[in-house]
Amino acid sequence: MPAINDLAYIQQRLGNCTRCRLSVARENIVFGEGAATTSIMLIGESPGAKEDYTARPFVGDSGVMLTKMLRVMALERSQVYITNLVKCRPPDNRDPFPEEINACMPFLHAQIHVLKPKIILAIGRYAANAMISPISFEPVSDLITKEIVYAHKGNLVPVQAIYHPAYLRRQLRKGDTVKFKQMLQIMRDLARKITHG
Ligand code: URA
Repeated sequence: MPAINDLAYIQQRLGNCTRCRLSVARENIVFGEGAATTSIMLIGESPGAKEDYTARPFVGDSGVMLTKMLRVMALERSQVYITNLVKCRPPDNRDPFPEEINACMPFLHAQIHVLKPKIILAIGRYAANAMISPISFEPVSDLITKEIVYAHKGNLVPVQAIYHPAYLRRQLRKGDTVKFKQMLQIMRDLARKITHG
């Protein structure tokens, strides 16, 4: 079955989800979007206000930055698949709680299983640590240079941890370009690796 049908099936199973308390305040479930036949999957943390309103991942300020970061890899949004660890917006944009991550995780596993990406870009601390089994809690600055492999039910996918665009925007606003430049270098190296197999 083509991946797009499988994704639709996962979304149908998710339904009008009430598996955790995030369902109470959310406007929309943000399932994910992008190319169903891509080799590159991006996983963020959780939807923000604009994502909750539009039901689309990374459409706010972080999304603008993420799009620029993808272009460093000569990629457009339409060429990758973008989703989040947690599919509903946490109130006041707080960090997701472990039980909320656990409730959503089977759906993320299913998306990864269907898409079978060659690489996962895990955006920010929560997404990056969730790719490690058992789930770890290291800073992205440590994970960024680590070899991480997502391993679940026989699926093995290399993971590149990247800084969250919201964090990079905060750094840049402070006039600190170090992390941003490091990120660009990592993304350029990754693009080279993907292109040359
Ligand atoms: N931040 C995220 O982690 N995901 C989104 O979809 C938007 C902002």
